Amino acid sequence: MSKFIVGVTGGIGSGKSTVAGLFAELGAGVVDTDAISHQLTAPGGAAIPAIREKFGEAFINEDGSLNRTALRDHVFNHPPARKQLEAIMHGRIRDTVVAALEAAAQPYVLLVVPLLIEVGSYRPLLSRVLVVDCEEDLQIKRALARRDMSLQAVHAIMAAQTDRKTRLRVADDVIENNGDLKSLESVIRTMDRQYRAMAAEAH
Ligand code: ATP
Repeated sequence: MSKFIVGVTGGIGSGKSTVAGLFAELGAGVVDTDAISHQLTAPGGAAIPAIREKFGEAFINEDGSLNRTALRDHVFNHPPARKQLEAIMHGRIRDTVVAALEAAAQPYVLLVVPLLIEVGSYRPLLSRVLVVDCEEDLQIKRALARRDMSLQAVHAIMAAQTDRKTRLRVADDVIENNGDLKSLESVIRTMDRQYRAMAAEAH
């Protein structure tokens, strides 16, 4: 793809959405795989018929959306079901991502992929990889503040995710999100100028 696309990743609660939102305020495009996944499983979503067929009506809410809690529990207790769910979701998410990237008219686009390192298929689309990193105690605090989740669940997710070192190794750019929002905004203003220059040069 000829567009300048920056892949954004980072652990749970590291600040990926906050970072993407601040770039968007400055005029960058944002495509978010989590948001796309939610759209696909909302009422009338494109993944719902396949989920209904594979897993049954018990996993669909009355309004036609995915019953996330039921499916999460099921997948947790039946490992092969995870593969089936991934087979339904991955291709659909990727197709939607590619269409959104192609439609984007901004000078550059951020593609937010929490599992960028685990799911290798996004890498060929990217001009650069931006990792949002923060100290683990802060990450836990922020993850807990945002979600209805126990400390134990946050620890379990962190243990299952790629470790910080591996993530940092693939980064072209790193945002150290250990300060307040003001200092984050200032870092992002500088990076926005750099990405605009890189995107202009790439054309
Ligand atoms: P997840 O992986 O859970 O989707 P995320 O990486 O997208 O999370 P955010 O949702 O952006 O992370 O941030 C987690 C929480 O931390 C949010 O409540 C956000 O407002 C807060 N936060 C992020 N960065 C900062 C910061 N620099 N200062 C203060 N609060 C912050």
